[in-house]
Amino acid sequence: MAENLNVFRSTQVIIEEALTKLGYSQAMIELLKEPIRVLTVRIPVRMDDDSVKIFTGYRAQHNDAVGPTKGGVRFHPDVTEDEVKALSIWMSLKCGIVDLPYGGGKGGIICDPRQMSFRELERLSRGYVRAISQIVGPTKDIPAPDVMTNSQIMAWMMDEYSRIREFDAPNFITGKPIVLGGSHGRETATAKGVTIVIDQALKTRGISIKDAKVVIQGFGNAGSYLAKFMHEAGAKVCGISDVHGALYDPDGLDVEYLLDRRDSFGTVTKLFSNTISNKELLEQECDILVPAAIENQITSENAERIKAGIVVEAANGPTTLEATRILTERGVLIVPDVLASAGGVVVSYFEWVQNNQGYYWPEEEVHQRLKEVMEKGFENVYNVHITRKVDMRLAAYMVGVRKMAEAARYRGWV
Ligand code: GLU
Repeated sequence: MAENLNVFRSTQVIIEEALTKLGYSQAMIELLKEPIRVLTVRIPVRMDDDSVKIFTGYRAQHNDAVGPTKGGVRFHPDVTEDEVKALSIWMSLKCGIVDLPYGGGKGGIICDPRQMSFRELERLSRGYVRAISQIVGPTKDIPAPDVMTNSQIMAWMMDEYSRIREFDAPNFITGKPIVLGGSHGRETATAKGVTIVIDQALKTRGISIKDAKVVIQGFGNAGSYLAKFMHEAGAKVCGISDVHGALYDPDGLDVEYLLDRRDSFGTVTKLFSNTISNKELLEQECDILVPAAIENQITSENAERIKAGIVVEAANGPTTLEATRILTERGVLIVPDVLASAGGVVVSYFEWVQNNQGYYWPEEEVHQRLKEVMEKGFENVYNVHITRKVDMRLAAYMVGVRKMAEAARYRGWV
């Protein structure tokens, strides 16, 4: 049978398994295996050549039993409704694992921002907010950046929402520029969070970060800052990649040079002739492999050939269920996406809290709090993995889903 590459279906499988292990009813499974609300919108955008292009976008809200829903908006040509639905469930799990007072949400627009001008992107971002404005808001559903969206896009979206509501609403969206109420440390938060769980994972294996060889797939927001932090911590960054290809050197790459030459979409390998493919990169010798790009990268096809002892998922959904089974059987420690990449939403939560208070924290305070939250999240998941003898992904789902299920139960929904 062909391997299941539909991330929504595979997420449903593990949600069901996690809730069953925790002893919840079939009704609870039915409630939590689908988002409570999914909106599809069509957004007309005036292009620079005066033509009008109609874009399709989505906003999915998984569950609001715990509190308002929260999660990013991605701009990508391959966005699908199922993907956005799966991503909204993953956001719920992330918020559960790091104990934030949110449920999960996610948005996406089918588009290629690399082919669009600055003004076209502005019109698309504003059009999306107008289209979803009825179901979002500071106490309903709070968007944020995701794949190929950034603080400028968040600024336009915040401005559009504030105009619609006729009051200034910095707490409508997170990942904003600092001058518009963004938080210190938000831009680097996902990578910082990954760094913290890598430290924890290495401790369980008795490896020092200074002896560790790291391969990072993807050089976007998470991948590039992670390369920087790993390099600064004394690890050897042996591999990196972007959409065009990958670079690998067992003696370590010149990380500072690569960061310097990277463009705003995270591409850098085009400058080199000695590249290998993304696929080949995953199979290179290293201690820690960090998929920080897109879904379904480690599958039943290549899982046997992965040489890393630790796989830390900075991207959402990079490893299939079958690959998870193979890697776990081979003794590879997986730090699953819903834990490893939760740093972004943690600092988004701090940003929202600061916006609500109108009082802003210094960068050190953000880092310190992020560290505490991520370490606790790792410990909780790792303990369930050991005590309940389940793989790390199922352990993460069990930790992540519990608060939501309890909240739904207390509210009398199930
Ligand atoms: N898009 C990020 C994620 O997938 C961050 C979401 C947020 O900050 O709300 O976790």
